[in-house]
Amino acid sequence: MHTENIEPESLTEETERIIDPETNPEEETIETTLRPQRLIEFVGQNHIKIPLSISIEAAAKRQETLEHVLLYGNPGLGKTTLAHIIAREMGGMIKVTAGPALERVGDLAAILSNLKAGDILFIDEIHRLNKTIEEVLYSAMEDFALDIILGKGPAARTLRLPLEKFTLIGATTKLNLLSAPLRDRFGHVFHLNFYEPEEMTTIVERSAELLAISVNHEAATLIAERARRTPRVANRLLKRARDYADIKHHGILSPESASEALTMLRIDSHGLDEIDRAILSSIIDMFQGGPVGLGTLAAAIAEEVETIEQIYEPYLLQLGLLERTPRGRKATQLAYEHLGKKKKTLNLGL
Ligand code: ADP
Repeated sequence: MHTENIEPESLTEETERIIDPETNPEEETIETTLRPQRLIEFVGQNHIKIPLSISIEAAAKRQETLEHVLLYGNPGLGKTTLAHIIAREMGGMIKVTAGPALERVGDLAAILSNLKAGDILFIDEIHRLNKTIEEVLYSAMEDFALDIILGKGPAARTLRLPLEKFTLIGATTKLNLLSAPLRDRFGHVFHLNFYEPEEMTTIVERSAELLAISVNHEAATLIAERARRTPRVANRLLKRARDYADIKHHGILSPESASEALTMLRIDSHGLDEIDRAILSSIIDMFQGGPVGLGTLAAAIAEEVETIEQIYEPYLLQLGLLERTPRGRKATQLAYEHLGKKKKTLNLGL
C-alpha cells in the first residue's frame, strides 16, 4: 500500500479535477457507451420524463413534430443524453452543435436547410449564441422559415426560405442569460435537478454493468454518495475506483477498495474535494464565516471566479454548506460542523 506517499496537492497548481462536472475529451467515447438510449432507461428526473413521454406520444399520434424543448441545469446532469433520447423516441435524426460553434448566419442556415421533417437540432450552450444568429433562429423556430437579408441599406430585401418542421432542443446551464424572446419560443422548458441518492446508486450500478465492472450494492452506494449528485461525476469516480481496485485489490471493487480509492482522490464523505473545502475554510478562517464577495474569495484561494461560481458553488449551495446573500457568500452552521470548526463568538465581556 503506497497511498500514504501521495504528495499534497497545491491549490494553485493545475490539478485534474475529478469532480468537475464538465466533460473532458477522452471521456466522450466512454460517455456515449454509458448514455441511456431510451426514456425508460433514463434514471430519475420524473418531473421531466412523465410530461415529456406524454408529449412525445401525443406528437407521434398526431404525426406532428415535438414542440421545441429547452433543458437547463448543471453540467453532467443529462441534457445531451435527453436530447439524444428525444430524437430516438421521435424517430428523427439529431444534429448536434453548440452556441459558440455557430459563428456566422451561414453556419446556422446551412444546418437548418439540411434538416428533414421530424429531425432534431440540438444546440448546447444556447445562451452563448450571438445576437444575429439568435434572431435568425426566431423565424426558424416560429414559422419554420429562414429569413435571409440580401444586400445592404435601402436596397436590402428579405428572402424567406421555407424549412422542414424540426424540433430545436436547446441546453443551457444559465437560464438567466437567455433572452426572453428566445426563451418564449420553447414549448417545453425543463429544469434538470441534482439526483437523489438512490437514483445515483442506480446510475453507478447501471454504468458498472455496461462497463463489465463487478460492484456490489454497498460499494456502488459509496461511490454514488460522493459523486455530487451528478451522473457524469459518478461515472468518473466509478472508473477511477475500478483502476484502483485493479492495481491494489486484484480487481475486486469492494466497499473497502472503493473507499480507499476515494480517499486517495481526496474526496470526502460529502463528495467535497480540496477546493470545496478550501472555499469553506477560507470563508470561516479568513472572513469570519462571511459574508464575503465572490471576487475576494476567489483571490483568497487563487481560483477563478467562474470556476467557483459554476463548478463548486452550486453543489455547496445544494448541500446547504454555503449561503448566497446580497452581501456575499456565507458558510452555514453545517459547514462548520462538516469541517469540524467552531464558530467564534464575540466576547463582549458581559
Ligand atoms: P449534460 O449534457 O447535462 O452535461 P450528459 O447528458 O452529457 O450531461 O450526461 C453525462 C453522462 O451522465 C452521460 O454519459 C450519461 O452516461 C450519464 N447520465 C446523465 N443522466 C443520466 C441518467 N438520468 N441516467 C443514467 N445516466 C445518466
